[in-house]
Amino acid sequence: MTENTDRPVVSHWVDGAEFTSSSGRTAPVFNPATGEQTKDLALANDAEIRAAIRSASDAFPGWRDLSMAKRQAIIFKFRELLNERKLELAEIITSEHGKVVSDAAGEVQRGLEVVDLACGFPHLIKGDFSENVSTGVDVYSIKQPLGVVGIISPFNFPAMVPLWFFPIAIAAGNTVVLKPSEKDPSAAVWMAKLWKEAGLPDGVFTVLQGDKQAVDGLLTAPEVRSISFVGSTPIAQYIYETAAKHGKRVQALGGANNHMMVLPDADLDLVADQAINSGYGSAGERCMAQSVVIAVEPVADALIDKIRERMAKLTVGDGRDNPDMGPLVTAQHRDKVRGYIDIAEQDGADIVVDGRGFTVDGAEDGFWLGPTLIDNIPLSSKAYSEEIFGPVLSIVRVQTFQEGMDLINSGQFGNGTAIFTNDGGAARRFQNEVEVGMIGINVPIPVPVAYHSFGGWKQSLFGSAKAYGVHGFDFFTQEKAITSRWLDPATHGGINLGFPEN
Ligand code: NAD
Repeated sequence: MTENTDRPVVSHWVDGAEFTSSSGRTAPVFNPATGEQTKDLALANDAEIRAAIRSASDAFPGWRDLSMAKRQAIIFKFRELLNERKLELAEIITSEHGKVVSDAAGEVQRGLEVVDLACGFPHLIKGDFSENVSTGVDVYSIKQPLGVVGIISPFNFPAMVPLWFFPIAIAAGNTVVLKPSEKDPSAAVWMAKLWKEAGLPDGVFTVLQGDKQAVDGLLTAPEVRSISFVGSTPIAQYIYETAAKHGKRVQALGGANNHMMVLPDADLDLVADQAINSGYGSAGERCMAQSVVIAVEPVADALIDKIRERMAKLTVGDGRDNPDMGPLVTAQHRDKVRGYIDIAEQDGADIVVDGRGFTVDGAEDGFWLGPTLIDNIPLSSKAYSEEIFGPVLSIVRVQTFQEGMDLINSGQFGNGTAIFTNDGGAARRFQNEVEVGMIGINVPIPVPVAYHSFGGWKQSLFGSAKAYGVHGFDFFTQEKAITSRWLDPATHGGINLGFPEN
């Protein structure tokens, strides 16, 4: 392949305009379906990090003080524009991430739902009022923005994950610095341009491109008041600890290894469909993918047959052509996922369907890995206990419901899980006892809608604040409680050094 040396450079968005980087440091951006490096990403240096934060900091007072009606009009306009042009954004996502266009459009749609929620923000940032708590005394609360807020996002949802946070942060009166993943950075800049078109004042939404240096710049800058992070668990833990040490409010969502439990009474055709959708959609690069099927015997053999039949019909190819599944995001990530299949095999698992040799004719340099099905995976294998984040579905056979539940609860993660059954009592017991943050009952990818909140338990979420919904508005506002009395000789209590009794 000849190398394209005339590549576009993706850079920052600061003060309402593209900001040409002079750092001299870059990272490659690929088209995963061809393996070609299509762009260079500018990686911020310290001066650029400071310029981005300063711009957001300078924009804060003006944005905070703009009337809610004017802020709301801008958010509605952003919503309209995003809805009109969502296919354009989906195509950008596909060109850098590799997921199929229809799935990328679905990602934008889910993000749009948070914008819908943010449009109604005045209702969600109202305070409370209690009249006459003591004679002539009223108590009320107001919710105010934090200031500059930092968002650090992962590669797998370059539009949706930032959209989980910034519509709410902006609606609540904050200014945002978004640090996207280096692997697919263009969606963030595209959304910044859309904000500009919607009339957002310059500096309210900033995109800072970069790597660990940019992240550390956000984590340590005194002007940045909060950090919203989504990514892998070790980095989430680092973010949580470092940002907290620097006095910030933090929400840090980490990795996952989700299990779906199938009881013997479940409809196995429905389960097989859902296992395929969940396990191989977006090439398994979803934090809510079910990567392990716990089959409560005697269903495993019949279920595997049904999953295999369906796998044989799956199409894999360039996401722009809308097959069922696209490539993985980078060659490095593909090799890591392939390494987990090797580990499973070495540890004695049965590789029922092996995607390791898969390639696409005419696009052999793409980052391909075919859908893979593993049976009898030993629980001691790293390929069982760690997050693979690829198109690999593993089957674990258990004898009882309790054995399956214990398995789920013994894992380090607690992001999502699902149970497939027609037994309401079993489903109810599952929802009560399982130690996981998001649960599906006959639903394989139980991502809560925008007006609920998204977040896992254990190593899948550091901090107590989940993404979007009421949690989102709480996270991006700080409350003041005001106790007020208008001095009046009739109710004035005179000098009294104790607590008033009424
Ligand atoms: P990642 O942790 O490698 O990167 C996430 C972000 O952190 C990126 O912006 C990256 O630039 C930055 N980063 C990476 N290494 C860093 C370091 N050493 N110091 C500071 N910053 C660093 O994650 P990823 O590979 O982009 O995304 C996949 C991961 O995200 C998976 O583990 C997946 O489960 C997780 N994820 C979780 C959720 C959730 O809601 N819990 C949602 C989506 C993705």
